[in-house]
Amino acid sequence: MSNPPIWAPWRMDYITGKKPDGCVFCAIQSDDRGPSHHREDLVLVVQEHAFVCLNRYPFAASHLLVIPRRHLSNLSDLTEAEYTSTMLLVRQSAERLKAATNAEGLNIGMNLGKVAGAGIAEHLHAHIVPRWSGDSNFMPVIADVRVMPEYLDDSWRRLYPYFADLPGSHADAP
Ligand SMILES: [Zn+2]
Repeated sequence: MSNPPIWAPWRMDYITGKKPDGCVFCAIQSDDRGPSHHREDLVLVVQEHAFVCLNRYPFAASHLLVIPRRHLSNLSDLTEAEYTSTMLLVRQSAERLKAATNAEGLNIGMNLGKVAGAGIAEHLHAHIVPRWSGDSNFMPVIADVRVMPEYLDDSWRRLYPYFADLPGSHADAP
């Protein structure tokens, strides 16, 4: 029996809120960011071709995104090295997410195009969503979206050590 749909009221904040100009996934990688901003940006590791961060508008606790560095919307536009690196990072992130959260299952996938449900269709990203039987028992029901930043920071601090062994750039001082 599958779980009921995940209730995530803070998603409304995203859907109805003001969107920043430009691509948020590119903004995280801009010259004025980097390791000293990883925690604030919810970034776990940045590699040559791809990086991992927490979704700021999660469907479940510790919802991860694995994102190729280049601003591209089609899988076929990735070079073989970029594609391979991204998919390897998806696999490595999935293992680490399971270990860090004791997730009983995972949803892994990409929404290609707005019509498929992509919030940011212009920059490829893979979702990794941990699942537990009775999800709502694990994820506290956060009716007040203003507490989300603290909640996300807790998730980041829990996951961070699990990504420390991966090659790439990590936060300066977790
Ligand atoms: Zn982008």
